[in-house]
Amino acid sequence: MNIQVGDIVRLKKPHPCGASEWRVLRAGADFRIECRGCGHQLMLARPALEKRIREVIPGEKSGGAAAGEAVTGGT
Ligand SMILES: [Zn+2]
Repeated sequence: MNIQVGDIVRLKKPHPCGASEWRVLRAGADFRIECRGCGHQLMLARPALEKRIREVIPGEKSGGAAAGEAVTGGT
């Protein structure tokens, strides 16, 4: 799964504030994500985050050529 800084991830389980979309602040072995509803931040290891993700919504990229590329839950 390709997750980059600036992407929006939609999680399977909504945050208690009601939002289910999180913005990726930091990517790597660990991820830092910020709730779009209340601004709460979470640190998660990649496998833990990938398990919770329903959908990845790519953020604005400068000059990316992969527009329209499908994001699925494969390997
Ligand atoms: Zn929240």
